[in-house]
Amino acid sequence: MTDGERLTAGTCVMCKQTFTFDPRSVPTVLIDPETGLPPGMTVLGSLRPATPEAVARSTDEPICPRCVSRARQFQAASESTPMWGTWP
Ligand SMILES: [Zn+2]
Repeated sequence: MTDGERLTAGTCVMCKQTFTFDPRSVPTVLIDPETGLPPGMTVLGSLRPATPEAVARSTDEPICPRCVSRARQFQAASESTPMWGTWP
């Protein structure tokens, strides 16, 4: 028995592709199941104040490394645009 990496298979919340990840270190984003978006984000990608109810019903969903790097590139390319604040 090893106490090494315990990988889990899951679906990336952004691209819907299945990938394996370490649940202890995978980046996650809070997703409101009612909209499929982070609480406080509209379908237009703009931000509005998140309601406590939206945050309460939201769950952390994993994001695959490809989407993380894509999001970081996008963030770097558009510094004036407020992005989801959940990435490290
Ligand atoms: Zn993805």
